[in-house]
Amino acid sequence: MADLVNAQPHKKAECRRCGTCCRKGGPALHSPDGELISEGVLRARDLCTFRPGELVRDDTLGRIVPLPGELVKIAAPYGARPDDWTCRFLTEKNLCFIHGRQPIECRAFYCEAPEALLALSGKDSLDRKAVRGLLGAPAWWDELMDAHSERCSYDRLTELAPRIAEDEEARRAFLEIVEYDRAFRDLIVEKKAALPEELDFLLGRPLLRTVIMYGLDARVRTDGGISLVQTSRNVREEAKENLR
Ligand code: SF4
Repeated sequence: MADLVNAQPHKKAECRRCGTCCRKGGPALHSPDGELISEGVLRARDLCTFRPGELVRDDTLGRIVPLPGELVKIAAPYGARPDDWTCRFLTEKNLCFIHGRQPIECRAFYCEAPEALLALSGKDSLDRKAVRGLLGAPAWWDELMDAHSERCSYDRLTELAPRIAEDEEARRAFLEIVEYDRAFRDLIVEKKAALPEELDFLLGRPLLRTVIMYGLDARVRTDGGISLVQTSRNVREEAKENLR
């Protein structure tokens, strides 16, 4: 894989260091990045998991696609706005805070010649459990991941989402999943099983934030319940268009 990165040294030299690529989202991690985790350059709080079925914008393809498998990426700064994808290691001066130890995708990417990055796509990706092992985090984190994935799968949400406007049962089932996700996160923090800033790695992003992909805005009511509001933008429809 290193050959892919080193294949375009002349092109990397032309990088203007504008930081645009780093603002479009942190890199996904691959096996060669394992040492960055085991050596403590990347910690759980620096990472974010994208779960199978989650709709994401693929900038190399220029469209929204459902993820076929799990990806672990470098996260945006903790507490960033939902539409801010900037890599947490990008400094105000467009420098990389971990320069010299960047993941392999960063070293491969050059915006005017994305071939090297495309060649990495889907190859030797590190999933959550592999990353958990490299972090030296407790093995029972794997059980938390499995329990959460079983109850909060994107496949199930995707099946329910188109029906919730007319089908009260589908709406109730959809809301139950979103509420379970929220309660599961609260419980993990309450039991001190993980830190709040580690949850985006451990469980992926909260459903309260990601259901926007179905054209739904999930809002917490004053009584603590969750309301679903239809938004004008339906990312799911955009994805369907793209897949035709
Ligand atoms: S790790 Fe560094 S080079 Fe890679 S996206 Fe983040 S700021 Fe940019």
